[in-house]
Amino acid sequence: MKDYHCCATCIHFGIEKTEEGINTKCTRLGYDTNPKYKFNCWVPKERVRRAMEKSFHKKNVEE
Ligand code: SF4
Repeated sequence: MKDYHCCATCIHFGIEKTEEGINTKCTRLGYDTNPKYKFNCWVPKERVRRAMEKSFHKKNVEE
């Protein structure tokens, strides 16, 4: 199953434009983060949750 777990797919992931360019941050914790980072505080976005369920169901049907 595809691994969706990363900051970019979390409901708390935010992107802001600054004078220096694009900044990615965690809106819950207030820290800068990287889309590829992986933490236990992850809460998947609704569309990601649905994709995970679909992928899980597909895997179970194939087995
Ligand atoms: S640090 Fe945790 S809460 Fe913040 S965006 Fe990443 S996974 Fe989500």
